Amino acid sequence: MENCELEYGAAARLKEGVLDPDLCSGCGACVGFCPYIKSYNERVAIIHNCQICDGVCYRICPRGFTQYTSLRREVFGAVDFDPVLGVNKEIYFARAGEEEMRSCGQYGGVVTALSAFALKDGFIDSILMTGGNLKGTKPVLVSSTSGVAKCAGSKYTAAPTLSLFQEAIKNGYQKIGVVGRPCQVTASRKMQQAPEINGQRISLVIGLFCMGAFSPELYTLVKEKGLENCDRMDIPKDVLFSSSGEDTIIPYDEMRQFIRNACLSCYDPLSELADVSVGSTEYDPGWNALIIRTTKGAALVEQACANGYIEINPYPSELLPLLKRAVFRKKKRVLGRVDFTYLNLPAPEREYFLSTGDDD
Ligand SMILES: Cc1cc2nc3c(=O)[nH]c(=O)nc-3n(C[C@H](O)[C@H](O)[C@H](O)COP(=O)(O)OP(=O)(O)OC[C@H]3O[C@@H](n4cnc5c(N)ncnc54)[C@H](O)[C@@H]3O)c2cc1C
Ligand code: SF4
Ligand code: SF4
Repeated sequence: MENCELEYGAAARLKEGVLDPDLCSGCGACVGFCPYIKSYNERVAIIHNCQICDGVCYRICPRGFTQYTSLRREVFGAVDFDPVLGVNKEIYFARAGEEEMRSCGQYGGVVTALSAFALKDGFIDSILMTGGNLKGTKPVLVSSTSGVAKCAGSKYTAAPTLSLFQEAIKNGYQKIGVVGRPCQVTASRKMQQAPEINGQRISLVIGLFCMGAFSPELYTLVKEKGLENCDRMDIPKDVLFSSSGEDTIIPYDEMRQFIRNACLSCYDPLSELADVSVGSTEYDPGWNALIIRTTKGAALVEQACANGYIEINPYPSELLPLLKRAVFRKKKRVLGRVDFTYLNLPAPEREYFLSTGDDD
């Protein structure tokens, strides 16, 4: 790899363009293969300014400059796409087939069920997931279906899940799955373009919906309020912490201050580059919204249905405009921000959001 005399190596670009302006989403992609980049308590720091010009750290960072059109083309080929929902083949209400997976899942347990099936059926031989609780998150490299279930449930902070990718490589895994937030999905797709870190071994990307993650200060608040032993957190509207059926509700307006800065300029609430994207239905907590995006995603869902791992129903047509409106508003808001500079979007896509009113 080229070694440049100037101070502007990839690490410097990462520091000046992403870390210093607090635009790091905490995905963990740059951590793990480089001894000079460390993650502690969901914050990332460079401890030595290496001079490699074409270092992979900046290239795979979802907040590093990204040619979105070519990345989309790498994943989907040259296909038409909906500027709001992204490329999508089908959209469903879905839930895990087995009660056990439904009950451990955040909503319908679809991510748990699809991940377990993908491992069992050989779509993947391992998967990067996120465990932990309200005392802190923990990236986990999983290779068994029982390990998948242990990671069920949403942790609403920015766990550096991808930091374990090199661990998966060291363990010899060839078909690595990822469950991640949209920023982690983008990073995974950029990693697939980086043969020097064996990124092509990422074989399946299950993306979550995500409107924002809380910064690690959430844990301080949780501790102060004595909520760290709660077994569930959710954000139906306000923020809900549940313990043995008892709920503590904190108004969202009080929690807004903890949203991670990077999330304010995030253009992708639906994991647009994933094989499948999974979120809440905002309507029935026993079910998930499921978007199928790629041929591989379609095959996974079809076979998971055929084997009883998940059930699917049509997405109610009256609810789709609500999902689209929420996503439209987020994207439009982000396009208006001065710090939204990392994605090179096609001009017609920008224009679509900027020239259309919220209620059109
Ligand atoms: C920070 C965050 C914000 C979200 N915001 C929204 C939103 O605004 N709207 C919406 O509809 N859905 C949102 N989701 C997704 C939602 O909470 C569920 O994860 C999703 O609906 C899947 O539900 P499930 O029942 O299939 O999950 P489960 O079967 O319980 O599986 C959840 C999976 O999520 C993974 N996971 C948990 N926490 C994290 C994390 N911090 N980072 C990466 N992976 C993690 C685990 O590995 C697990 O495999 C968000 C999720 C996160 C983590
Ligand atoms: S967004 Fe991800 S790749 Fe970029 S600096 Fe943060 S942890 Fe590293
Ligand atoms: S809002 Fe965007 S940047 Fe923030 S955690 Fe979610 S996907 Fe990542």
